[in-house]
Amino acid sequence: MLEASGLMVFYENMLALNNVSLQCGENRIVGVFGANSAGKSTLMYALSGIMLDIRKKEEMAGGERITISGSIRYKDQELMGMKPSRRAKLGIILCPERRRIFRESSVLENLKIGGYLATAAQAKETLAYVFTVFPALEKLKNRVGGFLSGGEQQMLAIGRALMAQPKILLLDEPLLGLSPLMQAMLMRATREIRDQRRISIIVTEQYARPVLPIIDYAFILENGSAVLEGTREELMDNPDVRSAYFGV
Ligand code: ATP
Repeated sequence: MLEASGLMVFYENMLALNNVSLQCGENRIVGVFGANSAGKSTLMYALSGIMLDIRKKEEMAGGERITISGSIRYKDQELMGMKPSRRAKLGIILCPERRRIFRESSVLENLKIGGYLATAAQAKETLAYVFTVFPALEKLKNRVGGFLSGGEQQMLAIGRALMAQPKILLLDEPLLGLSPLMQAMLMRATREIRDQRRISIIVTEQYARPVLPIIDYAFILENGSAVLEGTREELMDNPDVRSAYFGV
C-alpha cells in the first residue's frame, strides 16, 4: 500500500539514506530498527515529505544542500515531490520524534489543532476515540502540554496525530526515554489503534524489544542502509540481530 524504493538522501555529501526500499501493507504494523544516526528520522521525513520543507528552509538560509531521490508510491500515486501538506491530506501523518506537542497549549487545544484536516463530525468522533484509547488524557484535558509527563506527552502526540485522520501513521521513536511500563502500555494502545481504526503504522525505534509484540514485519537500518528485513520470527532467528536490537 505504501512502497518506498531506492530512497536516497544526502545532507551535502553525507549519505543519510542509501538505496532504502520498504513496504507497509494495509492494516500492518511495520518496525524500523536502527542505532543512533542510522537514518530513522531521515526516513520518516522522507516518507512524510517534511524533508522537502527542511530542504527549502536550508536553501533559503543558504545552508546545506539536501538531495532526495527514489520513489514513494501510495495507492498508485507517486508521492516523491508531493508537499507534506498534500501527503497529510492523503492520510500520511507523522508523529515526530521527541513528541513536539505545543507546550503552551492545553491537551484539548493540542488535540483540536491536530484535527485541522478533519471535518467537525470527524474531529468530534476522533476526540472521543482518543479519550477511549488514552483515558488519562481526558482527565488532563485542561492541563498545559508542557506540564505533562513524558508518557502523557507521547499519548498526546499520538492522539494529535490520530486527529489528523491518518491512513498511514508514522511513529518516530515513540518510546524514547519512557519507563518499560509506559512503553508496554503505548505499544498495546498502538496495536489497539491499528485493530480498531484499520490504520497502517510504521514505527521506528532504537531497541526492538518493546515493539516486537505488535509488529508484523520489520526492517533493520544500519548507516543509512536497510540491511535486513523479515517477520518477527525471521529476525529473532538471526543471532546478530537478536543481540544487537532485541537485547536477548
Ligand atoms: P536518532 O536515533 O539519533 O534520532 P536516526 O536514526 O533518526 O538517529 P537521523 O536523524 O535520520 O538518524 O540521522 C541520520 C544521519 O544523518 C546522522 O548521521 C545525522 O547526524 C545526519 N543528519 C541528520 N540530519 C541532518 C542534517 N540536517 N544535516 C546534516 N546531517 C544530518
